[in-house]
Amino acid sequence: MKHSIVPPYLLAKIAQADEHGMAVAAAAARRALEGTEPLHEERRLHATEVQQSIASTLRSTAQSTAQSTVRSSAHPAIPPVVHHVVPPVVHRTIFDAQGAEKLPGKIVRREGQSATADVTVTEAYDGLGATFDLFSQVFGRDSIDGKGLPLLATVHYGRGYDNAYWDGERMVFGDGDGEVFGRFTASVSVIGHELAHGVTQFSSGLAYEGQSGALNESFSDVMGVLVEQHQKNQTAAEASWLVGEGLFTPAVQGTALRSMTAPGTAYDDDVLGKDPQPADMAHYVKTTDDNGGVHLNSGIPNRAFSLAALELGGFAWERAGQIWYDTMTAASAPTLLPAAADFATFARATVGAATLRYGAASPEADAVGAAWVKVGVLKSGSHT
Ligand SMILES: [Zn+2]
Repeated sequence: MKHSIVPPYLLAKIAQADEHGMAVAAAAARRALEGTEPLHEERRLHATEVQQSIASTLRSTAQSTAQSTVRSSAHPAIPPVVHHVVPPVVHRTIFDAQGAEKLPGKIVRREGQSATADVTVTEAYDGLGATFDLFSQVFGRDSIDGKGLPLLATVHYGRGYDNAYWDGERMVFGDGDGEVFGRFTASVSVIGHELAHGVTQFSSGLAYEGQSGALNESFSDVMGVLVEQHQKNQTAAEASWLVGEGLFTPAVQGTALRSMTAPGTAYDDDVLGKDPQPADMAHYVKTTDDNGGVHLNSGIPNRAFSLAALELGGFAWERAGQIWYDTMTAASAPTLLPAAADFATFARATVGAATLRYGAASPEADAVGAAWVKVGVLKSGSHT
């Protein structure tokens, strides 16, 4: 399954940028659009893989739990924390496609080797490391699949290629057209976003269509910004809550691809138009484009996460992030999240995960429930 960071509706806008004197960007966007094929066939295959993956995750969790567990004395309801005997170790390999649209390219940096003169290689290597660190140090997950998957990335894919994507095995970065987009390694939240699609693929397997697809997108945005906040050691109050900050060239009237605290405000530009993300259910977008608006309606669960994290304060990955991770991986959620979960099902699952880890009527469960009420997914009082 191929997940690209730039949604098709945005590429479609840029594809008409020659009207604004941006012929290079328009041509680059048209080439990138050709690379966004429908996912229907892969989705069908995916369901079985996900069931197998969940079954094997549950088996391995049960085994490691039996080997080594520590319980919190303060909260008997908190599930056991699994401690690895050997801490997870990152294995990164960066390849250079040297302008060709061919994978994997030539190896330019292996794990432990020092930085090269190419900033793109450095950013890819460091971004993969920052993503691995969040999952390993905060959530105790050994890489994307929980089993030490080596992290592979290819940079300089194509000439002026206008996207970055996770293809199920590796990350691929274009250099951008130079008129609208610069290089795609520039934002660590994009790298975290793409690799988090791998975490979803190996855990809940949320179907990439409609509300479950928007939740799949939103989980990637949540983990993407958490990778960046964790790398910068920022509290929820200090963070920008932007996804893809720094990707646009200075010519664009906009700060990022998406804003989690204020969906719909990331850009307002004569070429790109206005950021179309809704911030609540009253503005939910019904469309068949973009797999049923997966990059649009993700604004609603994105805002719910940021509201919960800001209400709780401190580092967003510590409590809000843990609750979202628990929900997604069923590490402590009462039930496995169905792959076809809608917003309300996911919302109730996050309240359930918060209750299980922190207790009913805990500040965490209350903040999460209130956030979903505020964006119109749950009704007041219905979340407990
Ligand atoms: Zn995505």
